[in-house]
Amino acid sequence: MKKLITLITLILFLPVITGCSEETKTYDTFLDTFLITDMRVDGISIPAVFNPAKGTMTPLCTDPLCAHTEKAGCPFAGYNTIWEPHYHNGSIWFLSMVTFGKLDDFAVMRYDMDTAKVTELIRMEELREYIPDTVNQDNSQSFGFRDGYFRYAIHAADRTSAFRLRVDLESGEIEILTNEYHQPFAKYKKQYLAYTSELDYTGVSYGIHLTDAAGNVKETILPDKRIDIAFDDLLDDGKLLYVTPVQTEDGTYDWDRMTVWMYDMETGEDAVIVENFPSSYIAAAGDYIYYSRYVDDPPKLGYDLNQKEDKFNLSGGILFCVNIHTGEESIAFEMPEYVLNGIEIDCVGQYIIIGYHNTDYETYEEDATDRGIWYDYAKEVGRIVYDTETGTTAVYPDAST
Ligand SMILES: [Zn+2]
Repeated sequence: MKKLITLITLILFLPVITGCSEETKTYDTFLDTFLITDMRVDGISIPAVFNPAKGTMTPLCTDPLCAHTEKAGCPFAGYNTIWEPHYHNGSIWFLSMVTFGKLDDFAVMRYDMDTAKVTELIRMEELREYIPDTVNQDNSQSFGFRDGYFRYAIHAADRTSAFRLRVDLESGEIEILTNEYHQPFAKYKKQYLAYTSELDYTGVSYGIHLTDAAGNVKETILPDKRIDIAFDDLLDDGKLLYVTPVQTEDGTYDWDRMTVWMYDMETGEDAVIVENFPSSYIAAAGDYIYYSRYVDDPPKLGYDLNQKEDKFNLSGGILFCVNIHTGEESIAFEMPEYVLNGIEIDCVGQYIIIGYHNTDYETYEEDATDRGIWYDYAKEVGRIVYDTETGTTAVYPDAST
């Protein structure tokens, strides 16, 4: 492998359009200050926090001489990048492989931010003991962190039911969930809101559910909608944002084409905000929703010698935003030389953070493989930070190897 050394540079851009700016607000919590992510150090990924206001990336392992391996005694050795770290109540939770390379042999780990200590909460093999003999363990599984729990599900082959459990991240308590249980993600007045995600998909419950605090469904609103994700960002104003895949004429869902809706909790009015964009990865801040999407006439990036075809920047390097009150779309920034990664878009405080990758098709090293000559292109990855208050944009390449 070629070693690519990327200088940590900060490039400040003047705002192209400041139409997506908003008024100054106060942000003080951890989640409004940091993005929890990971970074590569000498080819090994470890959890890290990114500060969008400063553009700094800080690894959780603070020993500058640590090799981040098991041999070196690094508590983050085995960290698995497939599942993003999760912040909850002063700790950062992540998954670590118990046996290197075995993806389903992992432990749930806790990093206590006060003591900087890493402890193991539970192992996958302990969770498997709760699975009844009647459940086929070969069926598809899903797991991940959500709202202070680690959740685990095995889905029936026809996906009409699932065996589900969750682990309380604080106490380690394990709870078996019924198909009727829906974990609330937000509170509105005296009711709680829940929806069924892919993580606990049982195939029987579409729509948004009004529940009590314990997750018992009292009423389902929008019962015909297949909800991909819902946001509580605007609930203070009585508005619920949610995303659905487009349903095609034969009844199946097209997960490459999404629609953002806004439901008025008081009037029941349900309006389309953004149509036809390629993923459900959006970020909402203030009065705007931010997203990237495929553009007409995308700029050409170069000729890919490996795939023998021209490469285009399908996003155009454009971050769009739409005003949720007027439905008017505008451009937050336009940087055609940066390929925006639509599945990496986050909101931290007043900042929208979007991942990018750039391949320089003019600069490469030839690498002979059994498939012939392979062209190893110079590549840069990193993050673009858009400040919604000032309308300015900054680019932070990853210092990775
Ligand atoms: Zn380390």
